Amino acid sequence: MTDPEPSVRPVQPPDEDEGGDPACWANRVCPACGRLADDEPPTVCAECGTEIPGPGD
Ligand SMILES: [Zn+2]
Repeated sequence: MTDPEPSVRPVQPPDEDEGGDPACWANRVCPACGRLADDEPPTVCAECGTEIPGPGD
């Protein structure tokens, strides 16, 4: 007795919860090297150390 193995399983799309506003991370992009900062600005780039100002100057 052999159970047929489900070799083809339904592929589920990645559950990417992109919540709306694409600009929410835009201010986190390092102006010098383009790296996305790990923290909310104001902060410094973890890659090159460039200061990333927060919103509202
Ligand atoms: Zn940088």
